[in-house]
Amino acid sequence: MRITTQNEAQTLALGRALGAQLPPGTVIALVGTLGAGKTALARGISLGAGVPEELVSSPTFMLVHEYPGTRLPVYHFDAYRVADDDEFLELGAEDYFYSAGLSLVEWADRVTRCLPPEHLRIEIRVSGADQRQFDLLATSAALTAALEQALAHFS
Ligand code: ADP
Ligand code: MG
Repeated sequence: MRITTQNEAQTLALGRALGAQLPPGTVIALVGTLGAGKTALARGISLGAGVPEELVSSPTFMLVHEYPGTRLPVYHFDAYRVADDDEFLELGAEDYFYSAGLSLVEWADRVTRCLPPEHLRIEIRVSGADQRQFDLLATSAALTAALEQALAHFS
């Protein structure tokens, strides 16, 4: 599934639609270069899960952030500065992945082998100054159905 956004607000809206629909326990692998919009999409997903705006907009310097959400808790990982798979696992990544929250992993390609077989992969490409292309790939029928539901509400 491919979605193109024309500005950051549209990316936030896409994220909100996902965060409002994806089932508990979904792991979302965010892949894309620096400035692609991984964090912007993650903020939208968190808002969609009911995380308060003031928490979502705070800068992230940690490798994992836990956000309470009215719909679901959100666990936001940044694998950019993780040295290897072992360090990522030492953060307790698997405990988060197999809990009921939504797990977001920026720079997921750096820890591919740590991701559970069932996850949602989102590849982001910069296709213009303010244009971004999102390729969404679910690895299970259940997630694909949830994704279709989420995107049906996205305009
Ligand atoms: P990443 O986490 O992938 O490094 P960020 O989300 O931190 O990227 O930054 C994305 C940057 O691109 C922001 O400065 C944002 O304002 C800008 N931008 C421009 N157009 C878009 C768009 N359509 N979607 C998301 N971000 C956009
Ligand atoms: Mg980022």
